Amino acid sequence: MTLPPLKLYLAAPRGFCAGVDRAIKIVEMALEKWGAPVYVRHEIVHNKYVVDGLREKGAVFVEELSECPDDRPVIFSAHGVPKAVPKAAEARNMVFVDATCPLVSKVHIEAERHHAAGLQMVMIGHQGHPETIGTMGQLPEGEVLLVETPEDVSDLTVRDPQKLAYVTQTTLSIDDTADIVSALKDRFPAIVGPHKEDICYATTNRQIAVKEIAPKVDALLVVGAPNSSNSKRLVEVASKAGCGYAQLIQRAEEIDWRALSGVSAIGITAGASAPEVLIKEVTDAFAKHYDVVIETVETAQENVNFKVPRVLREPA
Ligand code: SF4
Repeated sequence: MTLPPLKLYLAAPRGFCAGVDRAIKIVEMALEKWGAPVYVRHEIVHNKYVVDGLREKGAVFVEELSECPDDRPVIFSAHGVPKAVPKAAEARNMVFVDATCPLVSKVHIEAERHHAAGLQMVMIGHQGHPETIGTMGQLPEGEVLLVETPEDVSDLTVRDPQKLAYVTQTTLSIDDTADIVSALKDRFPAIVGPHKEDICYATTNRQIAVKEIAPKVDALLVVGAPNSSNSKRLVEVASKAGCGYAQLIQRAEEIDWRALSGVSAIGITAGASAPEVLIKEVTDAFAKHYDVVIETVETAQENVNFKVPRVLREPA
């Protein structure tokens, strides 16, 4: 049987970023060093496949520190945690390792610096996302005002418009954030922003690659989890860049073949917490249905690496 032809544009960069890579290594090294079980507060990264794999090796995922026993190590996820969490672990004399991505920690430090200088903080982020909770939790309750849209900016009540600063979640849409920043600057011209963008290199690079591919394809699939902020943003970026069908899928089994009937060009990318093995699973699935020609669209090269905390590099 002759298969229909399909051009498959594969985004590069795609998938794992340095922060996710480091967080997974931290759990694996903690299991090697201390043995199972090792507790992990919140999904270490937003990917079921990764979490299930670590669970099989002996990691126990919990939502709150109160669910962990005092005598087992606990790891805090890549998204970061409010200050109260390590404090509570210290008070219980627990062994804990913080897997917060260094680029998220950078935002925490910025927020603290502005607060110390007497500025009130505005955070651009998504309500309820662990990273937003973690960043807002670096400062005393009520000190950080959250905005999600340019409309939220009009409703803001601030202490002093002359003493304001903003930070952002690292995984937002570059374009949507630019609109919110511009609304903030219009309303509060004295507002202070980050020296260098808070949206991280990995989020930025994956969105740029999607923008390059979107106009060339009939459909674009993003491999990622429904609770992964940067994966959801990739779907939105593809739609805004003119792709008529952009979908988030966790595994190949979620591909809607009926919706894709008649396509001749497709784009594939993956959020920063999706492993390459799942992308391969998806491209292999296409190769079963189509005569596929793959073209990699590389818009950036990444060589970022983050060290794991010293406690894991020292012998037990
Ligand atoms: S997406 Fe960016 S901020 Fe989040 S873990 Fe990866 S590198 Fe760090």
